[in-house]
Amino acid sequence: MSERRIDLPISELPDKWYNIAADLPRPMDPPLHPGTGEPIGPDDLAPLFPMALIMQEVSTERWHEIPDEVRDIYKIWRPTPMVRARRLEKALDTPAHIYYKNEGYSPAGSHKPNTAVAQAYYNKAEGITRITTETGAGQWGSALAFAGTFFDMDITVYMVRISFDQKPYRKLLMNVWGARCFPSPSDQTEFGRKILSEDPDSPGSLGIAISEAVEDAAKRDDTHYSLGSVLNHVMLHQTVVGLEAKKQMELAGEYPDVVIGCHGGGSNFSGFSFPFAHDKLTEGKQIKILAAEPEASPTLTRGPYAYDFGDTAGMTPLMRMYTLGHGFVPAPIHAGGLRYHGAAPLVSLLVNEGVIEAQAYDQLACYEAAVLFARTEGLVSAPETAHAIRAAIVEALDAKEAGEERVIIFNWSGHGLLDLAGYDAYFAGRLQKYSLSDEDLTKSLAELPKPGA
Ligand SMILES: *Cc1c(COP(=O)(O)O)cnc(C)c1O
Repeated sequence: MSERRIDLPISELPDKWYNIAADLPRPMDPPLHPGTGEPIGPDDLAPLFPMALIMQEVSTERWHEIPDEVRDIYKIWRPTPMVRARRLEKALDTPAHIYYKNEGYSPAGSHKPNTAVAQAYYNKAEGITRITTETGAGQWGSALAFAGTFFDMDITVYMVRISFDQKPYRKLLMNVWGARCFPSPSDQTEFGRKILSEDPDSPGSLGIAISEAVEDAAKRDDTHYSLGSVLNHVMLHQTVVGLEAKKQMELAGEYPDVVIGCHGGGSNFSGFSFPFAHDKLTEGKQIKILAAEPEASPTLTRGPYAYDFGDTAGMTPLMRMYTLGHGFVPAPIHAGGLRYHGAAPLVSLLVNEGVIEAQAYDQLACYEAAVLFARTEGLVSAPETAHAIRAAIVEALDAKEAGEERVIIFNWSGHGLLDLAGYDAYFAGRLQKYSLSDEDLTKSLAELPKPGA
């Protein structure tokens, strides 16, 4: 019988991140300039990002050293535990072995500080003193605010208006860590003022908030912009999660048949699964690698694989990815972190090549799964994380039907202690099933850019 909880000693904290770009079945398609449609180079990104991150973004080197300063901060909460969900297995009466990696262990309560700390470090090293960013439900903003404290960085966060109003605790958390947080659309930027003049009651969107943060950073020399997901260097930093998980599964004496993460922009999913995808790509291991997304925002399962902007205003480079269209306005589901219109180009390529699978789940089924998890394993999950739990349960029931002792592992990306209002709505029967209609999908795809056309 394997352990209930598998811990790694601090001495086993990985000292390198894994770059899956070294092992792809084909090269990445280049990002394109938003104006000319021509491939962009490192210099085009220099106003927004430090050169160290830009070089990671375009790197095909397999391993990247984790700087000592970053590892030292990781040690506040890393390595995180890997736990066998025995009581969940029992409740499902499944022969499957289910394990979860607890990324809710971090001070900000999610996996996001893994890249926030690294990004703050590289910006500081190049003399930057201020970073802007956007946040949806507030997880990313609070992670960057947390990271800023270690490097005396001035952090300014544009938070989607509807979340700013509905989730005051995340904003307060950012303030405690010394960051400034504005509701977006805001009066701080030209783009924000333009949106406000058209619609003073705009609830905002992640795309609008990105446009504001980018505009703010582009206008000042002391300021860079930071993104919490989607980009290659973010996936790279998050692989510390999967590299730990691999060592932990070795200690448990098991190897996964199914590897699961919820998918918004792709960072927690990639960080957890890419080190296992390495084995699939280079050693031919038979693993099902599954990205769990919401039916309300079904990017990987229903979007086309196409070039699109990362933001609403069309200021970011065009990236080839699965997308619902940059003008996509998602339904107000509680999993705010999974409402993004696009997906990581690295994940998109691997889905397109058949290395990774994706499945969409509706939010009611996900809340049901999260409540079962709380009442068996004791942990209260973020609504985003609930999608990974739902997927793990479906896979465990499938193993039961097949009578197979499959090993299923998933990334528990964050706790939901600041998201209890969603549980309240679920218990009160106020949550709806949202599935994106074909009509709305066609509408938002009509505006896809056509580079080279
Ligand atoms: C932000 C967030 C996500 C979604 O973002 P990814 O980049 O897809 O990982 C998932 N879970 C939690 C807890 C989050 O905070």
